[in-house]
Amino acid sequence: MATISEIYGEMVFNDHVMQDRMPKATYKLLAQTINEGKPLQLEIANVVAHAMKEWAIEKGATHYTHWFQPLTGITSEKHDSFINPKPDGSTLLSFSGKELIQGEPDASNFPSGGLRATFEARGYTAWDPTSYAFIKDEVLCIPTAFVSYGGEALDKKTPLLRSMDAIQREAKRVLALFGKKPTRVSTTVGPEQEYFLIKEEDYEKRQDLILTGRTLFGASPCKGQELDEHYFGAIRPNVNRFMRELDTELWRLGIPAKTKHNEVAPAQHELAPIYTTTNAAIDANLVTMELMRKLAPRQGLVCLQHEKPFACINGSGKHNNWSIAADGVNLLDPGKTPFENLQFLVFLTAVIKAVDEYQGLVCMSVASAGNDLRLGANEAPPAIMSIFLGDELEAIVHAIIGNEEFTPSGAVRMDLGTDVLPTFIKDNTDRNRTSPFAFTGNKFEFRMPGSSVNLADANMVLNTIIAKTLSDFAQAVEGEKDFDKAARRYMKKVLTDHERIIFNGDNYSAEWPPEAARRGLLNLRSTPDALPQYVTDEAFALFEEFGVLSRVEVESRYEVKLGYYAKKVNIEGLTTARLARRQYLPAIIEFSAVIAQAVEVKVAAGSAGTAAEAELLEKLNACIDAVYAGVEALEEKIEAAALIADSLEKAQAYCYEVIPAMDAVRAAVDVAELLVGDEYWPVPTYNEMLFYT
Ligand code: ADP
Ligand code: MG
Repeated sequence: MATISEIYGEMVFNDHVMQDRMPKATYKLLAQTINEGKPLQLEIANVVAHAMKEWAIEKGATHYTHWFQPLTGITSEKHDSFINPKPDGSTLLSFSGKELIQGEPDASNFPSGGLRATFEARGYTAWDPTSYAFIKDEVLCIPTAFVSYGGEALDKKTPLLRSMDAIQREAKRVLALFGKKPTRVSTTVGPEQEYFLIKEEDYEKRQDLILTGRTLFGASPCKGQELDEHYFGAIRPNVNRFMRELDTELWRLGIPAKTKHNEVAPAQHELAPIYTTTNAAIDANLVTMELMRKLAPRQGLVCLQHEKPFACINGSGKHNNWSIAADGVNLLDPGKTPFENLQFLVFLTAVIKAVDEYQGLVCMSVASAGNDLRLGANEAPPAIMSIFLGDELEAIVHAIIGNEEFTPSGAVRMDLGTDVLPTFIKDNTDRNRTSPFAFTGNKFEFRMPGSSVNLADANMVLNTIIAKTLSDFAQAVEGEKDFDKAARRYMKKVLTDHERIIFNGDNYSAEWPPEAARRGLLNLRSTPDALPQYVTDEAFALFEEFGVLSRVEVESRYEVKLGYYAKKVNIEGLTTARLARRQYLPAIIEFSAVIAQAVEVKVAAGSAGTAAEAELLEKLNACIDAVYAGVEALEEKIEAAALIADSLEKAQAYCYEVIPAMDAVRAAVDVAELLVGDEYWPVPTYNEMLFYT
């Protein structure tokens, strides 16, 4: 068997392959494009394309594709083969520089939020040379941006790349004040992906899972996650085989899958890769998610990536570990003496100010129908932004605000009480698992994103708002004679103004929402509440100032997000009504008829003991009435919502009218599930789906 180092990255046209396969001069120019963002000339692209094609064909590739991320957030690809037939009946295999750097997928069916009328439906894809090309299923995939004829972004990658440029520019400006001139400043991301695995045979019987990604019905299982036996527990053999295959495929694609373990909920798992530059990390995450879905059926399993596939147990998130590095040096590393580390404190202050000033945008960036079910359900942070700093950094912030000296508490050695175990130094940032935005030693962990989301939006927002606050800092201190003094004065003011966003306590506690309200923090509980934060005057001005999104680009994205939300809930509503009418009602009626018949038979036989059956029958009748009335009401609500023209009002109607009506149908069906005999129930239950062998 091949070793990890033999297979690692074998399907990627990475730096190593480029050096190996391209003339030195070409490699140097391409490296400049990749590292310094210099534009690529067509002659160079021709040489790169040739090398890429030869390499890909040797690896068995027959097609190439411009791989892009339209506003739906998922990835898209259209495959073109390398063939170029000759008059003599044979074929050349060709791939030009032009084909590498630009494509025209037509793609008129992708959502554009009104940016592209169908008569000018042309969209262009453009190579992102900072994310390596790779081979997937015999197809050479070229990561690309997707823009309209007029140059407006139609995808998730373009604004992300623009935001990375913006934060690079502003961070360099700040670093220059410290006398530093790095070649490249880039943000880094390590996304932890949570997911569920259930048996394929169960999945196939659940139309709700197939159509919506989550169960729309299902009574609580007898056992949930209360025994804490799944978290980090021994991994099921078939799950283990799945994880091994997944790791191997990811490593072949140069995706550094590092950690895998069982998560808190039964049948829930997590995979974390080693972090990398943001755009490459997001591309890799999307490939990872696709591979998970593809490989699970080989073990008879299905991978669920929805934020809340099952009620009553934890949902799935995708923690976005975020930092910023200059020529590979992490700017959020506090070092041994953070209080003296002025540069670290300046970057930390910028993050605190950004997250407080633009709370609404941060929440907006992760809002979705699926994530609404997860945030605030005492398993994930609530929809209130706050920052956890840990004791030491919080004490430092207080010292800055109060103009006090800071005395470090000193490293604490842990003594484990027995000589056989080694002693070690305690970390000075303890973990707070309940915070939506936690400083975890040398990076921030943004925990609100849901498991199914494309992290581009969240990082586009983080990068832009922090670019803004870095720029604020630079503006305030540039030209000051005593830089250190000016910087500390600025931080004192900013930290005083934004201290309210720092919260080290329990974000799940009942005291936090009222306390947050007292502090004036936003609590945007649903997607229609959060999305309007995208289209405020401040947001327009921010995105425009940093060249990340024009006003029309923001407006189009807002429309797409609202529309997507309404469509998702519409599908869930229709599925709820359809299944209630055609699967659950018939089952409950059938079972009640069996009971009624039993009563009749028993009475005919002269038995007087039918009180229990009669009571059960009444309970079933009540369920039947409730389900029936619930479905009628739900269908009315869906019809009314569907007729609304204004997209915000429509989304609100789905949120505040349709979802409660769906919940009512579900509640009635879930009561019936506990009354109806096992063999009469048409679908696998939570007990069966979550606790399989
Ligand atoms: P935990 O579950 O305790 O939060 P994990 O080890 O599962 O921690 O995940 C931590 C993630 O953070 C990994 O993906 C890791 O690569 C990433 N990470 C570490 N340092 C950085 C950094 N400087 N920038 C971005 N991500 C980072
Ligand atoms: Mg984590």
